[in-house]
Amino acid sequence: MNLLKKENIFHDIKKLKGVGSVLSKYLKRKRIEKIKDIILNLPYSETDRSKISKLNELEIGKIQSVKVLVKKLNFPRVRNLPNKITCEDDTGQIDVVYFNSREGYIRKIFPINKWVIISGKINFFKNKYQISNPEYVTGLENQDYVIKSIPKYNLTKGINEKKYRSISEQVIKNLPLIDEWLDGAFIKNNKLLNWNEAIKKLHESNDAKNVKSQSYRRLVFDEICANLLTLSENRKRIKRKKIPKIFNGTLSDQIVRKLPFNLTKSQEKVLNEINSDLKNSKRMFRILQGDVGSGKTIVSFLSIANVLENNYQCALMAPTEILSLQHFSLAQKIFKRIDIRIEHLTGKTNYSKRKKILEDLSKGKINFLIGTHSLFQKKIEFKNLGYVIIDEQHKFGVKQRSDLAKKGGQNCDLLLMSATPIPRTMMMSLYGDMDISKINEKPSIRKKIITLSKPEKKIDQLWPYIKKNLNIQNQIFWVCPLINESKFLDYSSAKKRFDLINRHFPKETGLIHGALDKEEREKVLNKFLKKEINILVSTTVIEVGIDFPNANLIVIENANKFGLAQLHQLRGRVGRGAEQGVCILLYKEVLSKNSIKRLKILKNSDDGFYIAEEDLKLRGFGDLIGYQQSGLKNFRFADPLIHEDLFRLADGFIKKIEQNGIEKYNFLLKLFDKAEIINVEDIT
Ligand code: ADP
Ligand code: MG
Repeated sequence: MNLLKKENIFHDIKKLKGVGSVLSKYLKRKRIEKIKDIILNLPYSETDRSKISKLNELEIGKIQSVKVLVKKLNFPRVRNLPNKITCEDDTGQIDVVYFNSREGYIRKIFPINKWVIISGKINFFKNKYQISNPEYVTGLENQDYVIKSIPKYNLTKGINEKKYRSISEQVIKNLPLIDEWLDGAFIKNNKLLNWNEAIKKLHESNDAKNVKSQSYRRLVFDEICANLLTLSENRKRIKRKKIPKIFNGTLSDQIVRKLPFNLTKSQEKVLNEINSDLKNSKRMFRILQGDVGSGKTIVSFLSIANVLENNYQCALMAPTEILSLQHFSLAQKIFKRIDIRIEHLTGKTNYSKRKKILEDLSKGKINFLIGTHSLFQKKIEFKNLGYVIIDEQHKFGVKQRSDLAKKGGQNCDLLLMSATPIPRTMMMSLYGDMDISKINEKPSIRKKIITLSKPEKKIDQLWPYIKKNLNIQNQIFWVCPLINESKFLDYSSAKKRFDLINRHFPKETGLIHGALDKEEREKVLNKFLKKEINILVSTTVIEVGIDFPNANLIVIENANKFGLAQLHQLRGRVGRGAEQGVCILLYKEVLSKNSIKRLKILKNSDDGFYIAEEDLKLRGFGDLIGYQQSGLKNFRFADPLIHEDLFRLADGFIKKIEQNGIEKYNFLLKLFDKAEIINVEDIT
């Protein structure tokens, strides 16, 4: 056979022999679309067919290989009876049975009085060994193909092991000689393997099961490099020259003087960082991180004031209608008596108002536009957009960030804000393309939320407490567990809880759940904001970022189902005013040692970043909020906990090579589907 050509690796899987449109559809379910995906689809185990067993030494229930003489074929004419082939060796007999097979086919692969190799699972039926529908039957001349350890892949309906093997071997046995992007010394010094060797080993030995094997680590290193290289390239493309913003801060000072509080040191520090980016001759591409309630909004508004002072237009985008509305009313308050025009635009804005806004925007008559993602539709044109801020952006991947930067234009600075606590280990691989500002203290007037736990059995003890809260005008969140993915089950559990609470507090209670669409959800949320209802039962995580100044109690059911970081974000929904916030965690079962440990962390700290780090140590990445659910989990092989050293190694490596062109790494980028993100030309 011929080696594949390098460029063919990126061709459609249908280019391989035996893959038609039906099979390619099944393969697609396993994320196998291009030939290179076969390379990345690692075996999870292997089937040992390497030993030829005598018929008197077979083990029932095991997959085994035998060498037997075909004695008799039996094709019953009765429906539902299987075709049966009787075979023997010098120690005994075995029946091979086939359901739904054609006679012609059977006759072909079982020639009477010839020796064949059969490999399959051994059964015992009516006092006799039996194999039904064996994976392999072949003449002796092909026995080398079967008598060996054969890698086992995670397959789906429509593809059996043998079929998949015939496809994957076309690739793995004929890997192209690629231009290795790591030099030999580097590979050796860091105990990695060269690429071709690593891939072969991953498919043809047990290495794929061992995340610490040299070959697996090589793949991990490649994956991290592809990721970091993409970020680095993205950064280069975004951080280009721009016209520096010029301002004295008069407007911003004026606002600060009127604030009912002093900025925290941390707020001042990040504001300085942002302002110096604005004044810089390169575009700002920065993320502002700060725990819930750390006061990111006012920081962003103060920086906006500076850009407005320089007569550029600004845009602020929030993930939901309600949040954007809150920002809008705050902006109106803050910029009152200052001669700028602020508008609010969302998907709900009616036609004529929208038209007017678009018109005025393009003429530069609107200075500051606040809204949802509809701010960035194609039709919307700014006259001189100078600054874009995205609030609670944790659903933005690199691709979206890069698209966004393009939309803003070359003089537009870009700030993202996020309350998602990302552990240090992940920062570089998620936001390596951005500059980072961090608010690490909270306004001192804010009281630390009191966190309590209670067994669910004692739920009845809560009613008087809730009554007391309602009497003093406190509002209450009641979060039901996400039992599983099923919207229906989540709904029914929340509905049941709602019914119970509603019985205790009729007319005070509302319900939102996953089956409601965004609009209906916002309707209920609005009722809650307006205090038409005062207890909100919900399944979904309550919209991040919305200020509910009167919500001071949150009850979280089945709390051990949530990650700590998530619990922390949830409880951050309450106690945002000067009142004491309380969070009650309900537990179904007796708490395990580990749960008690976790609870302690949560009770003792209100630092989301610290909590996220601790959570990571205890539970791994699976439960980190904003990690799994948000599409941030962009590693297939690398695990930041296990491969931390490789992350560091890759970081150093990328820093050394990033000044060079990326042509040398095109293959790598395409292998991990990164090329499209940064528009690498086809290498063919
Ligand atoms: P987040 O960082 O979660 O977006 P917000 O910006 O919504 O937090 O701020 C939460 C609340 O804290 C707001 O009501 C805001 O007015 C208030 N706040 C912001 N900064 C301070 C401060 N330095 N001192 C007191 N309160 C503040
Ligand atoms: Mg916020």
